Amino acid sequence: MTGQLLNGRLLADKVRAQLLPPIADVVARRGRPPGLGVVLVGEDGPSVLYVRNKIRTATALGLVSRVVRLPQDIGQDALLAAIDALNADGAIDAFLLQLPLPKHLDAQQALARIAPHKDADALRPVAALGRDPDALVPCTPAGCLRLIEEVQPSLTGCHAVVVGRSQIVGQPMAQLLLARDCTVTICHRHTRDLPKHTRMADILVVAAGVPHLIGGADIQPGAVVIDVGIHRVEGPGGKNRLIGDVDTEAALQVARAITPVPGGVGPMTIAMLMHNAVRAARRTLR
Ligand code: ADP
Repeated sequence: MTGQLLNGRLLADKVRAQLLPPIADVVARRGRPPGLGVVLVGEDGPSVLYVRNKIRTATALGLVSRVVRLPQDIGQDALLAAIDALNADGAIDAFLLQLPLPKHLDAQQALARIAPHKDADALRPVAALGRDPDALVPCTPAGCLRLIEEVQPSLTGCHAVVVGRSQIVGQPMAQLLLARDCTVTICHRHTRDLPKHTRMADILVVAAGVPHLIGGADIQPGAVVIDVGIHRVEGPGGKNRLIGDVDTEAALQVARAITPVPGGVGPMTIAMLMHNAVRAARRTLR
């Protein structure tokens, strides 16, 4: 059996294209496009790159965006004040706090300070995630769900196994799948006999941050596999290449569908951020 590669770039194109009419609607009714803000603390290389990518995507869609750059040594109170200012800013419909923050800052407190209706990344812990159709959903799990639904539109009764229990990916992913009536297993670094669990999965989402943690033998034949991991490794000939938490080639032999790395979950995460920003802006029209 040869599985299908789930192309996240194509689906992200589709998601962005679907945003154009609502963006035009915001412009028509409010005289300005949706506004997306990003708070960036310090000069962390990957973060600067991610932020640049997000802004570029927003601009291409016709959103207005603003990056609030804060110094590496900023104090917690000044960070909270910057968040308060964006909460109160009528030109910003949604914004995010780029993570990770420098170690001396309390990220949880800062995330909790973002007004819920402007919370573009939606990283606050929400028990009822996926049940309130109005709530903004965290971008990476929302993107994963879209990818899953491309090949498995109804998830009712499916056994979903999520490897990883982070606040950003694993936990909200599990909640979203639960809200879609899946039976959900959450695995983490203390799980005994991980393959025993992953082999039961109809839907397998891997967000453990461990290169090639999951091989072909860990996957149930016909499963849908979503690979959230992304790692830069040295390939043959000393050239760098990106790999995921799943051995894609091996998985393709058993799975029904699997997301590639790169070009799977990554592009969908940014597309869902745009989706959240546009949704936040649309709500101000009501
Ligand atoms: P991410 O941002 O991708 O969610 P984190 O580093 O925040 O990554 O979290 C990694 C998660 O993966 C944790 O919940 C951890 O328990 C889980 N994890 C790490 N290693 C393993 C492993 N070998 N088996 C199962 N789960 C693991």
